Amino acid sequence: MIHPHLPGDVTDRIVMVEGSGCRLRDAHGREYLDATGGLLLAHVGHGRRDLAEVAAGQMTKLEYYSSFHEFTNEPSIRLAEKLIDLAPSPMERVYFTSGGGEAVDAALRMARLYHHRRGEPERTWILARNFGYHGVSYGGAAATGMPMFHQGFGPMLPNVRHLTPPMPFHPEMYGGEDPTEFCLRELRETIEEIGADRIAVMIGEPILGVAGVIEPPSDYWPRVRELLASHGILLILDEVITAFGRTGHWFAAERLGVAPDFVVTAKGLTSGYFPMGALLVADRVVDVVARDEGFIGGYTYGGHATGCAVALANLEIMERENLLAAAVDVGDHLGAQLRRLEELPIVGQVRQIGLMIGIELAQDPDTGEPLSAGWVPPLVRERSGIIVRNNPNTVLVSPPLVMSHDEADQVAAAVTDVLTEYATRKRKRPAAPAVVLPVLDTPW
Ligand code: PLP
Repeated sequence: MIHPHLPGDVTDRIVMVEGSGCRLRDAHGREYLDATGGLLLAHVGHGRRDLAEVAAGQMTKLEYYSSFHEFTNEPSIRLAEKLIDLAPSPMERVYFTSGGGEAVDAALRMARLYHHRRGEPERTWILARNFGYHGVSYGGAAATGMPMFHQGFGPMLPNVRHLTPPMPFHPEMYGGEDPTEFCLRELRETIEEIGADRIAVMIGEPILGVAGVIEPPSDYWPRVRELLASHGILLILDEVITAFGRTGHWFAAERLGVAPDFVVTAKGLTSGYFPMGALLVADRVVDVVARDEGFIGGYTYGGHATGCAVALANLEIMERENLLAAAVDVGDHLGAQLRRLEELPIVGQVRQIGLMIGIELAQDPDTGEPLSAGWVPPLVRERSGIIVRNNPNTVLVSPPLVMSHDEADQVAAAVTDVLTEYATRKRKRPAAPAVVLPVLDTPW
């Protein structure tokens, strides 16, 4: 197997064989507490028989049928209706995929097609953001604002420009200007430079996820949306991480008060019980791209009957078990404990929104100079069997939404122990190396 993000010389892999709720067990019988929800997706917890039974029931009735041409299947119709009901702003149709990256690609293609069919074929530019993550399909990777996903894979999709996102903890990025004002000015200048009549769409995560759980100031997205709309530029919100309860809402767009043209979802849609994504599309786009000639291009497994049945059952579980409220309750409980880490001289900022938590490490919290976080997950796991993740300088915690207070306490204690011990030792010995945050075509 080629394991993503595993250096070739590492042979020690952890083979997970069993899971229940937030608990996991590996092939050696060692137990773990999953504080990442796999890759931020096991919302309803691992090992659920109710979802397995729904999958088995659908498979024995009709496992799959194509959604191409005039064909479809019953679970995909019901799931599309459900998603339109839950949507954060009026959405007209749903396009199903096998994951988040495919849904990002579909949104980018639809955005360009929208302008092409409206007689503006020059509108092909895509605005994205540094530090944004949109998957590793070529469209998604091109939109992703992290150089490691571009280097060696070129040429990327042309006509993509990366802008600065607001990251209030790093005022040095904005040369003394207010972050939102800086970003809006940069957006205005970029539109002027490229020409509004050449820009199709802007894509962004409402809350930066992989980059470290960074929520923008509350006026950022509404103002971006207004500016884009005044130039006829569409907006894609990539809610692959944030949709379906992670922030305590069905969609983060509700929290941020912004009505996009597209919402990209995956992960929590099925809690990982089936690989699926769903792109929600607003009516004015549907009118142009899906009517008359129709939309060309589909994924074989899009609208998979078993996947859609599982997604419906998964969303029902989230409603029945009040998991949106649970994300806020357990998230606040865990966040309150982790925020105390801000007193440590190696912690810059602890950010928590529902059950999305980022603990940003810093060489010196006053300057925000980044400190590598790569050593934290293996140490926490070895000592306590608790699984957390990291990006270059941030520890990421995103447990299943079914995590109990008691389990959250264990996570908080394990992370606190490791960071406190390191901070104490750092006072006596030289620190781990600083990391340079990787950026693409950043102007600062
Ligand atoms: N968009 C965002 C915001 C993501 O976090 C991810 C995956 O983590 C993706 C897109 C890509 O999704 P997938 O890995 O299902 O293709």
